[in-house]
Amino acid sequence: MPTCRFCSSVYPRNQFIHGNGPKAQVCVRCGLEKGMVTEDEVPSFYSRELSNSRFSIIARYWSPVLWLMAVWGAWAVLLLPVKPWGIYTLVLLALATLGLPVYMFLNRVKYLANIARLTPAYQTPPGH
Ligand SMILES: [Zn+2]
Repeated sequence: MPTCRFCSSVYPRNQFIHGNGPKAQVCVRCGLEKGMVTEDEVPSFYSRELSNSRFSIIARYWSPVLWLMAVWGAWAVLLLPVKPWGIYTLVLLALATLGLPVYMFLNRVKYLANIARLTPAYQTPPGH
């Protein structure tokens, strides 16, 4: 993958502006910031709203994993020594841990569809 000569970031080829000379090896963000292209010329640019929407979808999909780890931690610290409730909540946590992969598998198609919906369309320029 190429490297931007301004910000030194490595991106896929579709995240670079098209052109020779000063426009060579410049990512879309640096191209916009330096005024080399307008936002209409770079459809693969991830705007602030688009990246926030994508982050929201990613966070919504992965948040049950973080919640489950936090609850496991709280269980180990708070409920492990408590005699009857430690075992009851252990069973509930084990069920939730076993059910989480199934839940994520069932939601995976919806997640991928939302990510694909929020991925900017990119057409390879002619000659490439
Ligand atoms: Zn750059």
